[in-house]
Amino acid sequence: MMFDGRIALITGGAGGIGRATAHALAREGATVVLAGRDLTALADAVKEIGSGRADHVAADVTDASSAAQMVETVVARHGGLHVAVNNAGVLGAVGPVADIDAGAWDEVLAVNLTGVFLSMKHEIAHMRGHGGGTIVNVSSNIGTHGRRPALAAYAASKAGVGVLTRTAALDHIADGVRINAVSPGASDTPMSLLPGESREDRAERMRTAAPSGRVAETSEVAAGILWLASDAASHVAGHDLVIDCAATA
Ligand code: NAP
Repeated sequence: MMFDGRIALITGGAGGIGRATAHALAREGATVVLAGRDLTALADAVKEIGSGRADHVAADVTDASSAAQMVETVVARHGGLHVAVNNAGVLGAVGPVADIDAGAWDEVLAVNLTGVFLSMKHEIAHMRGHGGGTIVNVSSNIGTHGRRPALAAYAASKAGVGVLTRTAALDHIADGVRINAVSPGASDTPMSLLPGESREDRAERMRTAAPSGRVAETSEVAAGILWLASDAASHVAGHDLVIDCAATA
């Protein structure tokens, strides 16, 4: 029970990777609080996890007051915050740079980069005054590690998450807050489907496109997140763990 007695917040907790992470943290003894905008999906995920150790909170991570309220609610209801997984993200604007709508660009940056900043700002503010904590930001192998055409906004936002993570780790390690990132490759959620593609089509594409021949299971991404958040990684901070089975090696 690596997380016995700990309170964990997962943004985007009802989605693919967030939900798998919430399940894994709960199995390891954490009380998990899932955050997002879709209350029905969040309630469904909480019910699925069960065990009386799951809760949800409505939050839009692009909104400064909502992000502050999210952390306040977790602390008020559960008495603390020890682990945060900033996972909320969108693929957003797809197309060559010259054709990306400026508003669509802003939206991707608002969720994927500003959302991580706002979430971390309030998580750290609580953790540093209450014995520290650990934070894992969910980035992507598209950005710092690899490139794909037609995904400039997503790639730029995720490269930003990498730099933000390293800087925040340096700023706050002396406060007892360990901050890292994971950079998954294509994983088994709708986000990795091409427009109009089925899961079977994707499996066929990945057989030749990925060195491993397949997408990652969401549980495989969650395993990396849990390790970074756990005491087993007690001397790891400012790290970005690529989980793509050599896709960007
Ligand atoms: P997903 O199933 O679509 O989950 C994304 C989650 O983000 C949703 O639960 C969504 O919940 C939440 N979200 C979006 N905008 C939000 C906002 N403004 N405020 C709060 N929550 C928001 O996607 P996923 O594939 O699990 O992706 C999770 C993370 O992994 C993302 O950061 C993604 O970029 C990253 N990633 C995914 C892959 C992949 O292949 N799937 C690969 C590399 C990295 P609501 O709609 O309820 O708000």
